[in-house]
Amino acid sequence: MEFRIGQGYDIHRLVEGRELWLGGIRIPSSRGLLGHSDGDALLHAVTDAILGALSLGDIGMWFSDRDPRWAGADSKDLLGRVLSDERVRRWSVVNIDCTIVTEEPKLSPHRDALVGSLAGLLGISVECVSVKSKTHEKLDSLGRGEALEAHCIVLLSRGV
Ligand code: MG
Repeated sequence: MEFRIGQGYDIHRLVEGRELWLGGIRIPSSRGLLGHSDGDALLHAVTDAILGALSLGDIGMWFSDRDPRWAGADSKDLLGRVLSDERVRRWSVVNIDCTIVTEEPKLSPHRDALVGSLAGLLGISVECVSVKSKTHEKLDSLGRGEALEAHCIVLLSRGV
């Protein structure tokens, strides 16, 4: 077997008047993530981790925030476009491990839904998906609730 590891990171501002989309699902919240797309920082980190594992650039190169085609884009669609790329399809996702950093909303009640959504989008078992959430201990911009941050590590494999 041949293996590749990739890391992804994203941060978006939390603002009033936006729906909160994370991992492809809508989370009840008074505020949502600001972005050219739906602002789904978790899916952006997952997408960047996959692109990083295969040295295929980053999500900004694939889906520029200056391109009107991606205005208001569903991040599930962006991830799907990456997964359907011929260079990515040669690989299988072994597992992903994600961490979300935010003061609010509390994400632990949504953990199973987030894991299930990511597993479905990636076509892997829920046992191969980890989503952890933590606060920023009231420190800095994340701690003041001004933004939400997501990290992801992915392992890809293929037979040789
Ligand atoms: Mg983003």
